[in-house]
Amino acid sequence: MQNDTHDIREDERFMRQALTQARKAKKLGEVPIGCVIVCDGRVIGRGYNRRNTDHSTLSHAEIRAIRKASKVLGDWRLEGCTLYCTLEPCPMCAGAIEQARIDRVVIGAPSDKSGCAGSILNIVQCEKLMHQSEVTRDVLVPECRELLQDFFRDLRKRTKNAARKDAGKMVPAEGAEKPFS
Ligand SMILES: [Zn+2]
Repeated sequence: MQNDTHDIREDERFMRQALTQARKAKKLGEVPIGCVIVCDGRVIGRGYNRRNTDHSTLSHAEIRAIRKASKVLGDWRLEGCTLYCTLEPCPMCAGAIEQARIDRVVIGAPSDKSGCAGSILNIVQCEKLMHQSEVTRDVLVPECRELLQDFFRDLRKRTKNAARKDAGKMVPAEGAEKPFS
């Protein structure tokens, strides 16, 4: 699926910008996923995951970037645009990419849990749908993957510590009054 006609250095440059967006999500305690949309060599939409912050399942990085790019172009059609995302799009975002008629999708880390640009399904290249995007996978995979892995490692650590603290509360302190004796 890799297309050699594209400049890999340029793809990496824009993927780094998507990674910058992903780090903004991390700062909010959100799963670090970022996205930028490029038109004629210019970034016209940026987004990062804000699902918990916004209390909205629609607040995925790609959807937010698509909204902004559409505003800039004054058009829901994003023909001629390339979308860079640090993690392979989920079914919802892959559907939005297809609907927005985005020319090309450049993906960082693959997702075996929800990836719909080839891993589980391939919505963005489904011949039965109206529009198919060109897909370039595996751009800056180590950086994109590491950001996610670090986040989940920290989350597990925090959850474990919180559970330990809660467990501590359930043990009555020495000399504490026994409520039912
Ligand atoms: Zn999504």
